[in-house]
Amino acid sequence: MRLAEDSYKYKGLRKALVDTVRSKGITDEKVLSALNAVPRHFFLDSAFDKVAYEDRAFPIGEDQTISQPYTVAYQTQLLQVQPFHRVLEIGTGSAYQACILAELKALVFTIERQKPLFDHNKSFSFLKRYPAIHLFYGDGFLGLPTYGPFDRIIVTAAAPLIPEKLVEQLKPGGMMVIPVDEGDKQRMMRIKKTPEGTIETERFTIFSFVPMLEGRN
Ligand code: SAH
Repeated sequence: MRLAEDSYKYKGLRKALVDTVRSKGITDEKVLSALNAVPRHFFLDSAFDKVAYEDRAFPIGEDQTISQPYTVAYQTQLLQVQPFHRVLEIGTGSAYQACILAELKALVFTIERQKPLFDHNKSFSFLKRYPAIHLFYGDGFLGLPTYGPFDRIIVTAAAPLIPEKLVEQLKPGGMMVIPVDEGDKQRMMRIKKTPEGTIETERFTIFSFVPMLEGRN
């Protein structure tokens, strides 16, 4: 485990990243503050220190990526997280998105299907700052029925379809943000469960994610 430090240099780079994300259309100040609060270089190998605050995705091992900050901000803004919301995340990956959710004072339940990534996060000392983050090793298609229902669900991998079990685990009045396959890219979608239990779907722009795969690895 690397010994990462924050510094004025990184704080300056982070502020510039927040300005970039804002200039691309993110307006929710709480989301932008969360982005400003989480040192992204902690989540990457030290080889990426110089570029950690560029608005790009980077490899984190096991063929996976830490999402582009703009994408993290876009999904988080659509999610409309309130303090103490129970939020289920599918695809822990680097745990960066989980920390952004925790900065918004959510109770975060995050699932990863790849054991090496899950194990890495279990011993990632920075996460001790966020006792509200709960890590699970499992298949996100199944959700976490015993910990639900959830106010919010965020899927951070490309879903072939909208998983039925996740819709079931949404509270009435809850919502899910999920990139759904459309050709070789994904359409960002927001699924709302009304207080009466009916489902409403909104469509947003196109993104590119790594695939959501069934089973554990
Ligand atoms: N939220 C992450 C993004 C990681 S990329 C971050 O902030 O870094 C997507 C992640 O989803 C990968 O780690 C991949 O292994 C994981 N994943 C894919 N299918 C999954 C599934 N069915 N259940 C849980 N995790 C899954």
